[in-house]
Order: sequence, then structure tokens, then C-alpha cells
Amino acid sequence: MTEHTGGCHCGNIRLRFSTELDPSQIEVRACQCSFCIKHGSRAVADPDGRLIVSVGDIERLRKYRFGLRTADYLICADCGVYVAAIAGDDAKAIVIISAMDDQKAFSREPVPVDFDGESREQREARRRLRWMRVEISFD
Ligand SMILES: [Zn+2]
Repeated sequence: MTEHTGGCHCGNIRLRFSTELDPSQIEVRACQCSFCIKHGSRAVADPDGRLIVSVGDIERLRKYRFGLRTADYLICADCGVYVAAIAGDDAKAIVIISAMDDQKAFSREPVPVDFDGESREQREARRRLRWMRVEISFD
């Protein structure tokens, strides 16, 4: 596995995304929900990969929820960078490529995706299938 590192701007949240896929081959998704539109989010996940989110000061990790409230959108409360989203009892995640150090390596043309019509069940099923394992560590 190759480990891609990243994090928020001030360094409170750090990311390690492990994947066997070449970043130039990973589908880049431009979610069209109202939150992601405002951030211009571009997200990736490898269902066979893994994300580790390391947090320095938990007080400065904001977990934003909206809509069906089935996911936590992780934002640094200090520097404002949106780094990843986490959902589900089994904790699956996507990572935001603008938060990665090698963001340019994720070079595929973003695919607009719109999940507004999904039910809660459809949304949870899609995330189980397409998102990746995640661990949050505190250091
Ligand atoms: Zn920060």
C-alpha cells in the first residue's frame, strides 16, 4: 500500500490515506449536495484502502451534520479546512483531495454525483460499498 499524507492547514488534523491504487486511476467525485457545492469538494475513497485521521486537539475538531444527519463532516475549528466525511456504525470515510499533500496526483476529471434523492437506507448501503475503513487517533 502507498500512504498519501495530508491534513488541515494549521496541522491539528492529519490524514493518512493508504491505497494500492494509483492516484491517477481513482475516481474523483464532485458531490453536488449543498454543503459540498459551497466547499467545491472533490472526494476520493478506495473501498480496499484505509484512512487514518490523527487529531491533536479534539476541541478543535468540528463534526458538522445536516440533512439526514447520517455523516460527520470533519472540519478544523481553527483553520476551517474540510478534510473528510465519516459515516456509519462501521465507520466508513471519504477523504477530500484538496486536503492531501499530493492533491495534484488525484488527476482524474471529477465526476459530478448527486445523491439528494436517496433514502437513508440507500445512502447507508452506498457508503458501506464505496467508502473506506477509517480510524481516528488522538495524539
Ligand atoms: Zn486546522
